[in-house]
Amino acid sequence: MSEETIFSKIIRGEIPCDKVYETDEVLAFRDINPAAPVHVLVIPKRSIVHVGQAHQDDALLLGKLMLAAKEVARLEGLEESGFRLVINNGAEVGQTVFHLHVHVLGGRAFSWPPG
Ligand code: AMP
Repeated sequence: MSEETIFSKIIRGEIPCDKVYETDEVLAFRDINPAAPVHVLVIPKRSIVHVGQAHQDDALLLGKLMLAAKEVARLEGLEESGFRLVINNGAEVGQTVFHLHVHVLGGRAFSWPPG
């Protein structure tokens, strides 16, 4: 379980979000500070801090997160052009909100490796 975060408040509807997609277990909404023309965050409603703290019991939910990211990419018209999925796991690599989230990024070219 993760601590209370801003994403917990978004899930409970206490803070608004620009929702893109939702299921019983997953919510996707636009990043408030977009790093690309399309920048959507896909989060599980049941909180996990990051992949490093996921367990076998979370396997199905992690799979559903990936499929939700795919659906977001389709809804945002990124099927042809491609998209990047990013999960930051820990503060050192850039995680700022400690509730697992998949960044779905697209609509521009990206370089590799990331900085
Ligand atoms: P990370 O750095 O991987 O933890 O990503 C956290 C992301 O959450 C950042 O890209 C923030 O811009 C985004 N973010 C923070 N607060 C909000 C919010 N209230 N609504 C939407 N996105 C947010």
